[in-house]
Amino acid sequence: VFLSWGVVVIELVGGGALGPLLTSEWDGNVYVVRGTRRAVLVDAGAGIAPFAPPPDVDAVLVTHLHLDHAGGAAALARRGLEVLAHPWTAAGLREGDEERAGLTRSRELYPAGARLEPCPAAGEVTDGETIDLGGCILTAIETPGHADGHLSFLLVEADGRRSLVAGDLVFPGGRIVLQDLPDCRPDALEASLRRVLRLRPAGLYAGHGEPQHEGASADIEDAVAAFEAGGVPPRLEK
Ligand SMILES: [Zn+2]
Repeated sequence: VFLSWGVVVIELVGGGALGPLLTSEWDGNVYVVRGTRRAVLVDAGAGIAPFAPPPDVDAVLVTHLHLDHAGGAAALARRGLEVLAHPWTAAGLREGDEERAGLTRSRELYPAGARLEPCPAAGEVTDGETIDLGGCILTAIETPGHADGHLSFLLVEADGRRSLVAGDLVFPGGRIVLQDLPDCRPDALEASLRRVLRLRPAGLYAGHGEPQHEGASADIEDAVAAFEAGGVPPRLEK
C-alpha cells in the first residue's frame, strides 16, 4: 500500500478467485479509495455473498455492469451507500437488466440462482466528472471495449502520483479480457487504452488480480503495441 499524508489512499478490500481471495470467489476486486474528507469503494462484488464495507465509506463507484463488479450494488445501497455508475450502467442497475449485464450469457460462471438484483437508487457519473475525496481526486474516464458503459477512474494523489483504477479495461502485464458478449468491442478497447495511456498512470488497480503500484503506463503501451501489430494483447488467465 502507498501512504500519502500518512493515510492509505487506495487499498484492496475485496476480491475473488483471480486475485487475493478476500471476499467471495465470484467477486471482482473491490478497492477503497480514501482521502482526508471521505472514502469511496470502487466496485461492489457479485453480491452472492455480500460483504460489510469499511464504516467510513459513503459511496460505491461501479466500473461496469458485469455481475462480479455490479451485483453487490443493491446490498451496499441498503447499507446507505450512494451507488454511482456510467448512465448506461446505472440504467441497467436500476432495472436489474441481466441481458445488458451479459449475465444471461455467462450464467455458468456463477452459482445457480445468481441474479443482478435491481438497485433503484443507482445514480450517474459521467465522463470527466471529478470526485474530490480530500487530498486526492478521482476523475471518471469513459473506457468502453470490455463492456459498454465502462468507466475507469484516474486517481491523482496530493503528491501528484497518478494511478488508474481500471475495472476490466486492462490488467498487469497489459492483459485484457474479451468475452463473447454483444458489447465487447476490441476496436473500442484499443481506443480506450490509448486514452488512458495519455494520462500516464503509474499505479494500476485492476478489477482482478494483484494491485500494481508502478509501471502501469509501460504495460498499457505493450497492450496498445499488440493491437498496432494487428493482434490482440495477452488474455488474463481465468
Ligand atoms: Zn467485466
